[in-house]
Amino acid sequence: MTDTVRVRFAPSPTGWLHIGGLRTALYNYLFARHHGGTFILRIEDTDQNRYVDGAEADIIKSLEWAGLKIDEGPDYGGKTGPYRQSERSEIYKKYAYELLERGLAYYAFDTPEELESMRESLKTPENPTPKYDVFTRQSMQNSLTLDEAKTRQKLESGQPFVIRLKVPENEQIRFHDEIRDWVTFETNGLDDQILIKSDGLPTYHLANVVDDHLMGITHVIRGEEWLSSAPKHILLYRSFGWEPPKMAHLPLIMSPSGGKLSKRKAEEQGIMANVKDYIESGYTPEAVVNFLAYLGWSPGDDNEIMTLDELCSAFTLERVSKAGAIFNQQKLDWYNEQYFRKRTPESILPELKSELEKHGITLHDDAFGLKVIELMIERVASVVEMVDNGSFFFKPPTTYDEKTKAKAWKESTDKSVGKYVDRLSTLTESEFKAEALKVLLTSIVEEEGIGFGKLMSPIRLAVTGLGGGPDLFQTMELIGKKETTQRLEIAIQKLNS
Ligand code: GLU
Repeated sequence: MTDTVRVRFAPSPTGWLHIGGLRTALYNYLFARHHGGTFILRIEDTDQNRYVDGAEADIIKSLEWAGLKIDEGPDYGGKTGPYRQSERSEIYKKYAYELLERGLAYYAFDTPEELESMRESLKTPENPTPKYDVFTRQSMQNSLTLDEAKTRQKLESGQPFVIRLKVPENEQIRFHDEIRDWVTFETNGLDDQILIKSDGLPTYHLANVVDDHLMGITHVIRGEEWLSSAPKHILLYRSFGWEPPKMAHLPLIMSPSGGKLSKRKAEEQGIMANVKDYIESGYTPEAVVNFLAYLGWSPGDDNEIMTLDELCSAFTLERVSKAGAIFNQQKLDWYNEQYFRKRTPESILPELKSELEKHGITLHDDAFGLKVIELMIERVASVVEMVDNGSFFFKPPTTYDEKTKAKAWKESTDKSVGKYVDRLSTLTESEFKAEALKVLLTSIVEEEGIGFGKLMSPIRLAVTGLGGGPDLFQTMELIGKKETTQRLEIAIQKLNS
């Protein structure tokens, strides 16, 4: 294999892609691009019990949405495929048998009941979950304790078995992590890893190591939750006589309330856990990418806005922090606003149209849509919000904001609003412009000696149903004379009662 950088994102298709998973993918991608290397997607689908239909498609959709281009992967091709582990079972078996032959792994025939009774009888307060390890393996049903003939007989009679790694006693496994520096584990704390399960499929550990080796992975970049698996992997590399890739374990993503950002904690904090939710809520992918890049890494200056290309050239593992990174929703929303407001109305229009379609509204008039975008862009951070907060552009309000109603719609308000309706009728369609609408409102305010807001708030409430929003006169100009007048008249009837 070549020396150029090859990294992989290796998710298990067990559900919607988590936002933390996207950060792992992103860091791998940035690292690959920074070094002119290769970004590989490998689907780790050997655990049939946890397999979820559609999860792989969701992973790919999420990566593409974020702008991460996959160089090698299932359906993308590549010289070291196939890239779905379920299509590689024979490869793993071959390597597991190699270890068996060399005495570095063994068959184990223990039934679930036998395993349970071993754990029960050996458990102590200091060791509540005894392992299948160098100490216990001697009293179990395996090819180390049974003689050759007995082992063969069990295999031939079709008795279920697993293949376990023979973890050595009293050794230290020491390896260098690109982010955490030197990490040491004692082999005595490790159990004899299962390599091949009774269904004939490999475990994560075996498949992961074999594939990282065969796919020429130079750097394993993954979440901190996999750090405790690393010594097992190092042992496997050593058993095979392979050079392990460099390792980098990324800091955990933390909840603002402390602790790892679990699904439950995310929910409590009103944080969305899955990438899919960000897509559906209309987040701008560049904003999410920029935010995630800074969740555990920084460029070392005060530059906060960086495009994917800029991130690729700036990213190094040296600048990834060891400490957990707190998920800051306000910061994400800030990024989202920045990126949204940088876009041109023309680029937003198609998205606005499809968002409106979801609400059963077909927008035929592009000029109208563009004008709505211009009026709303400074007030929202996505088309989803634009439609939620600006639905009055497309249909009359069906309800009126209660608080505004209580504050702004008084006994005699209908008289003043009625007066405004009368004055509007003096304008022709082409005179129905923001400037003129303001002049007419000012004239009433002056005659009645009331504050400007005293009349503007009820008119806004009548036209939009809301207490705040974009420039009211431009809004009325845009929705036009007939519609504005109608809304004012309806409000006079409805709000007075
Ligand atoms: N399949 C593991 C996961 O779901 C991969 C961990 C690794 O990158 O080694 O995250």
